[in-house]
Parts: sequence; structure tokens; C-alpha cells
Amino acid sequence: MGMDDIIKKADVLIEALPYIRNFYDKVVVIKYGGAAMTDEKIRRNVLEDIVFMSYVGMRPVLVHGGGPFVSKRIEALGKESKFVQGYRVTDEQTMAIAEEEFMKINRDIVREITSLGGSAITVSGKDDTVIEVKKHPPIDGEDIGYVGEIQKINRDVVEKMIIGDIIPVIPPIGVGDDGHAYNINADQVAAHIAASLGALKMVLLTNVGGILEDIKDPLSRIAHVDASQVGELIASGVVSGGMVPKVRACLQALEGGVKKTHIVDVGVPHALLLEIFTDKGIGTEIVKTI
Ligand code: ADP
Ligand code: MG
Repeated sequence: MGMDDIIKKADVLIEALPYIRNFYDKVVVIKYGGAAMTDEKIRRNVLEDIVFMSYVGMRPVLVHGGGPFVSKRIEALGKESKFVQGYRVTDEQTMAIAEEEFMKINRDIVREITSLGGSAITVSGKDDTVIEVKKHPPIDGEDIGYVGEIQKINRDVVEKMIIGDIIPVIPPIGVGDDGHAYNINADQVAAHIAASLGALKMVLLTNVGGILEDIKDPLSRIAHVDASQVGELIASGVVSGGMVPKVRACLQALEGGVKKTHIVDVGVPHALLLEIFTDKGIGTEIVKTI
């Protein structure tokens, strides 16, 4: 490496300094889910970024999903995954499988963070009673089973971990007042956790480059959305499917006091670091200006 390259490296570090100072000691909640979880390289990238954030004094909290893994197991049993308005219809057996799969992913993430030199721990919405839910009411008269609506976050356990510089890794499972496990959309978990911790930022990592004006055109990214525009984006159908709980989660987080929310493509190498340590603004940011 020539002298010029070495100096450029120093420049990059110095450029990051104001961002590092701004984010020092601040809580950032990151949600990572979907198909991109199966790609080892992408996953390593994300976890490296999170370990980096933790080493420069930020307090990252990781919420993960895992729906595709559950679907695969259900299909292997010769059953079909069934969704109603984006919610997985969750019978007893599906919930047991979901719990197994989520905890397996969770352990893998914790292990990988550790191997990258960070410290992480499982914080379970159910066993640590961090996420209290009530059963989701029937949709169009259909009972959707063990699907939970978040009622309350008991943040103490999460707070203890972040104060100790340990990265909490949280699966999307809550506990009902019947003591049963309930399936929750992980975007919603991230929003409630972020609000309860007074997070500065919430970043939803996904498999698209943010909110697209036209879902078939990757170049039609909407870079900036105000909270007041979210309702219209859903009503007009621009935002549909899995993007609906995401924008709703952003709105919920903002209403809970989170300053900024982002929907970012996890496939961009080091998307998280770019989002946090530069003003390049990748993805879509949703903020509340009024
Ligand atoms: P994750 O697993 O990360 O939660 P989801 O599949 O639940 O991802 O949600 C992301 C999906 O939302 C995209 O892959 C896309 O199919 C869909 N989607 C619907 N409307 C839009 C939109 N306007 N812009 C981008 N994605 C959209
Ligand atoms: Mg989703």
C-alpha cells in the first residue's frame, strides 16, 4: 500500500469522528430479517457493522425475524404457510416450530457476534417476559391463532445488557397472559423496543432499497418520507405487503420519541455503517418534522 492510500484511510477515520461523537452512548435498534438472513456473506457484514458500532461506544440492539425458515419447516411437513393480511396463521404446531427456528437463528447470531469479538446475549420476549402481548383479534371472522399484539415492553433486562456493553439479540416472540408464546411481526418488535429505550435511531434492514415509488423499478426509491405522508402511501397502494408493517413500525417508533427511522437494503455492503457514519443517505428515511 502506498503512502497516499494510507493517508486516505486516516481521512476516512477522521470524517467519521463527528458521527462517532454524535452517536456515542446512543441506543440504535436494528431489525434484520427476511430472505437476506440466509446469505452468509451479507449476514457477516451486518454483524461486523454492529460489532463496530458497539466498539465506538454506541449501544446497538438487534431484533431479528426468520419467517422464511419457518415456512421451509412447515412445507417440509407437507403443510402450507397461510397468511391473512400479512399475518401468519399460527396454530399450536406452527408456533412450536417458529419458536424453535427463531431460537436457532438467535443462537447463531449470538455465536457469530462473539466470534467477531463482540459480546451479545439472547434476550427473550417470552422467557425473560420482555414482550407482553394479547392475542390478535380475528381478521374477517377468521381466528389467526397465536399471533400477538404488543401490550407492554419490560425494558429492564434489555437496559441492563446495554449498560453492560452487551448487545441484546431479540427474537420476535412475546408472552400472553396465558403464559403461551405468541408470534409477532419483527418490525413491530423493533419499534416498541426502540420507543421503550428512547433510541436515537431505528434501522430496518430488508431486501429492497427502501420504499420504491414503483415496486418494479429499483431506481424509484423515495429517499425521504415525512411521518404525515405514511397514511397516504398505504392508502394509495404504493406501499403494500411486507412494506406495510415496516412503515407502520417507523411511524410507531417516531410517535414513541425515536428521532429517525430508516428502511435500508441489507445487500449494500456495510449498509449500516454507511447509514450511520456518512451523510450519504442510502435507503428511505422516515422522520417526523412537525
Ligand atoms: P422483511 O423480511 O425484511 O421484513 P418483507 O418481505 O416483509 O421483508 O417486506 C419487504 C417487501 O415489501 C419487499 O420485498 C417488497 O416485495 C414489498 N413491498 C411492497 N411495497 C413496496 C414498496 N413500495 N417499496 C418496496 N418494497 C415494497
Ligand atoms: Mg416482514
